[in-house]
Amino acid sequence: MKRQVIVVGAGPSGSSAAFYCAKRGLDVLLVDKEPWPRDKVCGDGWLPSLKPFFQDMGIYEEMKSLNTVSGANEFILASPNEQVVTFSLGSHGDGDGMFIIQRRIGDDVVRRAAVRGGAEFLDNFDVTDLVIHRGKVSGIRGYLRNQPIEMEADAVIIANGSHSMLARRLGIFNEDPSLSMFAARGYFTNLPPELKPGTVLQFYLPEGIPNYHKARKSMSFGWISAHDKPGCGTLGLVIPIETIEALEMSLEEVFNWFVNHSKNGQRFFKGAKLADELKGWRLLGCTEVQKNYAQGALLIGDACSQAECAHFYGIPAGMMSGKIAAAVLDDIFATGDDSEAAFARFHTIVSEKLNSQYKFYQQFRQMVHFDIENVNKMNEFAVKNFKGVPEYSTVMYRFVTEVLGKTMPHPPAAAERLSQ
Ligand SMILES: Cc1cc2nc3c(=O)[nH]c(=O)nc-3n(C[C@H](O)[C@H](O)[C@H](O)COP(=O)(O)OP(=O)(O)OC[C@H]3O[C@@H](n4cnc5c(N)ncnc54)[C@H](O)[C@@H]3O)c2cc1C
Repeated sequence: MKRQVIVVGAGPSGSSAAFYCAKRGLDVLLVDKEPWPRDKVCGDGWLPSLKPFFQDMGIYEEMKSLNTVSGANEFILASPNEQVVTFSLGSHGDGDGMFIIQRRIGDDVVRRAAVRGGAEFLDNFDVTDLVIHRGKVSGIRGYLRNQPIEMEADAVIIANGSHSMLARRLGIFNEDPSLSMFAARGYFTNLPPELKPGTVLQFYLPEGIPNYHKARKSMSFGWISAHDKPGCGTLGLVIPIETIEALEMSLEEVFNWFVNHSKNGQRFFKGAKLADELKGWRLLGCTEVQKNYAQGALLIGDACSQAECAHFYGIPAGMMSGKIAAAVLDDIFATGDDSEAAFARFHTIVSEKLNSQYKFYQQFRQMVHFDIENVNKMNEFAVKNFKGVPEYSTVMYRFVTEVLGKTMPHPPAAAERLSQ
């Protein structure tokens, strides 16, 4: 049976693509290899820039009600020299901050919205290969509930996440080792009362860790978002592969060292309990939009390494690309021009939309995350120059422009562009 569009992978990117395709009246099948709902290792942070997508999908109120962190407005930054400064995260227009929702729950809300919008969904559908006819992707093959299956499609949207074999099949291999991270997530209970509900603690590798001088880079090591339920929180750890190699420890060993031997580890994690195992993943980021198309196929989200390289937020870029993919395919079907050049327009549009964002995060990564002295100095700058609880983005912007003498777009302006 031939479908107009098949979307492979029902994470936020694929479900967004399926929703917007269905909204445009396209016949769309969304498939995922897992039985749903499924888990995904993530920091569970749904940025405010996702609001327009949730509104389009009719799930904004539902996502808001699932948010485990109401009024996330306090941000504690622990620098490599273990100085701790508390910032405000500011408000995002209507006062809603970032939602923290477990991916197992949030992703299913987004997927169900795609189905309500008109997409057909099949889980336990493992796509193992693309059907390619005369250089054009013309379908998929794989296993549906363990039975071999092959399906034709006018276009395939590849949204099957990080390290996509389907992307590699098309010769698309967007893996820059300098942007590769080891990453893990853990859910905690028994966090100290100091981590009040709504607080986000971001901590850098403490300078005292053995072999720190070899690792050289300070890259933010982790953050924990304290939930409304006192003592509970989501931990995300992210560390460059080259740093972990220099430290000669596993990510878990680094975290354990932090908890047991550093001042801030003792302060914020002493007595805390891991509610389930620490789940790890290799995470890839990017500094500009990479090749994301072939004749007959478009790639979105982690399948083409779209997470930005400073904080590794990837949901917004994936959902936005899903919306753009639907518009491009609609146009291809309307004009009947299904040449490679017609699919390449997707790359142009996504680049126009996202490259300035990526540039901002790349600057942030180089000037702040990867410069030990700068993180220490920024915290000192905040302590000296601001009374009360300063807003983080203002401090960062003023530090970069006034102290480092560099230019950078003001972060809220950059974030607004993404949601337009
Ligand atoms: C530790 C960590 C913390 C992070 N924190 C954040 C954060 O707080 N906020 C944020 O925005 N981003 C964060 N990210 C990045 C974010 O998780 C990803 O960018 C995001 O999940 C990308 O969504 P996606 O839909 O492209 O891929 P995914 O969410 O990975 O979905 C891909 C889907 O494809 C399916 N699939 C895979 N292979 C096949 C196949 N062969 N056939 C059929 N289906 C298949 C999978 O089952 C899955 O459901 C974090 C990542 C990590 C690792």
